[in-house]
Amino acid sequence: MSAYDVIVIGSGAGGGTLAHRLAPSGRRILLIERGDWLPREPQNWDAGPVFVDNRYVSPDTWYDAEGKPFQPQVHYFVGGATKLYGAALYRLRQEDFLPLTHYDGISPGWPIEYEEMEPYYTLAEQRYQVHGARGEDPTEPWSSAPYPFPAVSHEPRIQQLSDDLERAGHQPFHAPCGVVLDEADMPHSACVRCATCDGFPCLVHAKSDADVLAVRPALEHSNVELWTNAEAVRLETNAAGTAVTGVVVERNGERETVTGDLVVVSCGAANSAKLLLASASDAHPRGLANGSDQVGRNYMFHNSVAVLALSKEPNPTVFQKTLGLNDFYYGTTDFDYPMGNIQMVGKSSAQMYRGEKPIQTRLAPERTLEEVARHAVDFWLSTEDLPRPDNRVTLRDDGNIALAYTPSNDEPKARLYHQLKSLLGVLGMHHDHLLPRHAYLKNDIPVAGVAHQAGTCRFGHDPATSVLNTDCRAHEVDNLYVVDTSFFPSIGAVNPALTAMANGLRVGDHLLQRMGAPESQPEPAGVA
Ligand SMILES: Cc1cc2nc3c(=O)[nH]c(=O)nc-3n(C[C@H](O)[C@H](O)[C@H](O)COP(=O)(O)OP(=O)(O)OC[C@H]3O[C@@H](n4cnc5c(N)ncnc54)[C@H](O)[C@@H]3O)c2cc1C
Ligand code: SF4
Repeated sequence: MSAYDVIVIGSGAGGGTLAHRLAPSGRRILLIERGDWLPREPQNWDAGPVFVDNRYVSPDTWYDAEGKPFQPQVHYFVGGATKLYGAALYRLRQEDFLPLTHYDGISPGWPIEYEEMEPYYTLAEQRYQVHGARGEDPTEPWSSAPYPFPAVSHEPRIQQLSDDLERAGHQPFHAPCGVVLDEADMPHSACVRCATCDGFPCLVHAKSDADVLAVRPALEHSNVELWTNAEAVRLETNAAGTAVTGVVVERNGERETVTGDLVVVSCGAANSAKLLLASASDAHPRGLANGSDQVGRNYMFHNSVAVLALSKEPNPTVFQKTLGLNDFYYGTTDFDYPMGNIQMVGKSSAQMYRGEKPIQTRLAPERTLEEVARHAVDFWLSTEDLPRPDNRVTLRDDGNIALAYTPSNDEPKARLYHQLKSLLGVLGMHHDHLLPRHAYLKNDIPVAGVAHQAGTCRFGHDPATSVLNTDCRAHEVDNLYVVDTSFFPSIGAVNPALTAMANGLRVGDHLLQRMGAPESQPEPAGVA
């Protein structure tokens, strides 16, 4: 008999959410996490340690296609990347589930329709306390329920930006935001609307991350166990290769093998591929569940750029990430291809610019970095990148990850940038300054900005061209599932976390059914 009914490897958006869904079932669940609890310390909210010293970035070394080493921007903690994320919790658009013609080719359709995911998006919005306003974003898909919490209000400069955009004929919207905020009762609100949110851990645990809102409540059930500082290094199977029989874990310097009836891999797209590739055996010579040779391929992470515009009036905004613009998502009358999403990012500070050459050389010393920060309005532009088989994770002989990636859709990305640039004059900004920033990506090696990594174990109907079936079960291994962003066959142009969370809930319900356990109750409409 196995020691556990379900082993979940990785406690981030996918794995943490799935563990929470399974917790009330009473089944024996083990959550294995290679990182520790993220320490609560003053440095959580200090741009120097976070953005300059990379205090919460893993010391991993990965290698690019030329074999050049780089430090990937990955975060190994309970809650995974959601500990540092911006908590912009978007649904994919309904059209993102369908084949879509892009400038550089076809973005493939998903093997399930939006309708199947919709109830789980609603549940995920409730679990992660998403604040938003339905009906403002013209590209937003239909939904069966309102946002559980009202939109986060704009501060005056962002409200002005919203008004100016509307005057110019655009349809800005309040961005969907996962914060435990109660603006009607700020003395009792957990979230204090600070400037150190996007890219920082939340010192007061008010960000809707998978640690605080999934793993901790799951652990209140005595049938759920968490191992921290425990890295899964190999999955063992029976001789036929049809079932995982053991998870080999390195914990506290020791190797041990733990058994579970069902094994769910959710290590993040690159690390899940690494684990499967490292689990090659006689039955699976190219890597576990890799008869299709698709494990590690079709890696995507958005073709994104962070830019800084300079407001003519000072921009004293503290919590900036409240506005989005999807008017160019599917293209324009003179460019009939999708361009992508524009949203705000956290307010930049002089300290973040340290070492950013474009800003230092093009704006300073004519302006001090403090003056730049006082006037900066910070945007994040995301264009969909296409799944390409040669964009892939492979395993080097030394066991480290190699990541080969060539961007796609550079033309729509440039168009999106110019759309924003052409608007600056009517938005009260200096029209000559729209500067790409590296600090937000935390690295000037683009491939190291792996925040939105996805796609290395895509799901599909055909075992010849996909790794997982529509339940996210490996086609070739009966008790093996993958629920992080690896399963994405395409990535859309909005942020991926809510889709990983919703899918974690969807697969969670499938596992409950498979185990004959009662399904979880609906989420209560919580209070902030
Ligand atoms: C700075 C930043 C900002 C972001 N902002 C947003 C945003 O605003 N909106 C949005 O939607 N998305 C955002 N993202 C992306 C979002 O966080 C990810 O898409 C999401 O967390 C992916 O979920 P996942 O389950 O695939 O992986 P993760 O959440 O990264 O979880 C993977 C987990 O697996 C663990 N792990 C890895 N390997 C092993 C192993 N071998 N054994 C055991 N454990 C292992 C890791 O430590 C980690 O805890 C951001 C990311 C970053 C870094
Ligand atoms: S804005 Fe709110 S959720 Fe974000 S770090 Fe500050 S207190 Fe935490």
